[in-house]
Amino acid sequence: MENFVKISYLIASVLFIVGLKNLSHPKTAVRGNALGALGMFIAIAVTLLDKEIISFEYIIAGVILGSSIGIILAKKIQMTAMPQLVALLNGFGGIASVLVAGAALLEALKLGSNIDPTFSVSTSLSAAIGAVTFSGSMIAFGKLQGIVTEKAVRYPGDQIVKAFTLLAVLSIGGYFVYQPTNPDLYWIISGIGIFLGLILVLPIGGADMPVVISLLNSYSGIAASMNGFVLDNNVLIISGSLVGASGIILTQIMCKAMNRSLTNVLFGGFGQVAEEVADSGDFYSGKVKSTTSDEVAMILDIARKVVIVPGYGMAVSQAQHTVRDLYNLLTSRGIEVEFAIHPVAGRMPGHMNVLLAEADIPYDKLKEMDEINPTFENVDVVIVNGANDVTNPLAKTDPKSPIAGMPILEVGKAGTIVVIKRSLSPGFAGVPNPLFTQENTLMLFGDGKKATQEIINALKE
Ligand code: NDP
Repeated sequence: MENFVKISYLIASVLFIVGLKNLSHPKTAVRGNALGALGMFIAIAVTLLDKEIISFEYIIAGVILGSSIGIILAKKIQMTAMPQLVALLNGFGGIASVLVAGAALLEALKLGSNIDPTFSVSTSLSAAIGAVTFSGSMIAFGKLQGIVTEKAVRYPGDQIVKAFTLLAVLSIGGYFVYQPTNPDLYWIISGIGIFLGLILVLPIGGADMPVVISLLNSYSGIAASMNGFVLDNNVLIISGSLVGASGIILTQIMCKAMNRSLTNVLFGGFGQVAEEVADSGDFYSGKVKSTTSDEVAMILDIARKVVIVPGYGMAVSQAQHTVRDLYNLLTSRGIEVEFAIHPVAGRMPGHMNVLLAEADIPYDKLKEMDEINPTFENVDVVIVNGANDVTNPLAKTDPKSPIAGMPILEVGKAGTIVVIKRSLSPGFAGVPNPLFTQENTLMLFGDGKKATQEIINALKE
């Protein structure tokens, strides 16, 4: 039995790793998901067989309840609300780690088992990391959902308070390793961990939440991995480590694409800077040309090469299917159409890829920033659909801008740029965009989906 369990765990772990590898490309992503799910099924089934479970009632009730909530959430959730859902799930992962390690500790004390250093260290870390993940994720969820202020909540001496709280968790956590027979210490570590999560995430502006969520995702993996040591369960150690490592890698990728350091995201108070800049002066007065769908249709009629730049606004307006219709119409007229994908367009990594894949746009038409940037000079028309920051030339020209240094899609080099958005409001970074005042830029004010449909109608007429 023991060998069977070990081999099954090994198979599950291999499935997780191969599944992750497959997830790294859209063509194999569905298979990757299925392999991961199969691995999880094996891991759960074997765990249920392995342990001497006295009653399955609670487990079955939990599975039914959890699955029902999961199915409803998966069906109902808007793509744009995905980051806060992930935050919520990370938070649950964190608190589960705290409770599982706490229960294991109480059980060990009740049975009078020998508590070795591996057990006490991993229990202590489960409490600290799990608690920080829980409260930090709840605040991140609240900020994105508009329940908690999106602003960066700063106060004098906040960094000192954070440093002391961290010190308190570390010292009590360290003390617990020497005194693991005192369960009160465990709950004190968890309590201070919860406070630390709150004060770590509250000072971060709502705009930086996706990066924070990715980091908290990594923490939830590390906490689960610590649980693996507590329970002496290899598959939990491996799967937790995979989540921990991939979360860190994703955090790095996001920071790099925004040209920010992780320290700057965590301690910079980005939300405040953005607001100050947004308030400054009347940037656009008299310099912006607005257009109509009829005019855009006329320009498209004579175009040979068109690039569509999707952004957050396309996601908000759920315009991807209408954009696909426009793509089909243009290509049926012999026009070459490509999509320019910025790594941080939208509000989560791969946001645009997911939406366009959902709308059945051929994947080879999606071009990464580095690939498409050198081609913009040969493009007749660029249609920017609800994107803003990812096209903003200020990133290159204004070193004081919050997006300074962020690589952008150089759409300004194209023949004509049509920008679809509802107003001149700024995007995520809160800064004006000089692209909108450029000689060859036309603003088509309106909702992303509606405006695209109007262009299609005008083209057909
Ligand atoms: P932006 O946030 O810069 O701009 C989105 C634009 O969409 C707004 O200016 C808004 O203008 C417009 N918009 C909103 N609703 C609609 C609608 N219904 N129809 C049409 N337009 C609409 O988006 P980008 O995609 O260009 O940039 C993403 C930003 O998010 C970057 O700054 C990036 O750093 C940041 N970010 C991205 C992450 C990621 O992983 N992808 C993670 C963290 C941050 P208006 O209100 O006038 O319509």
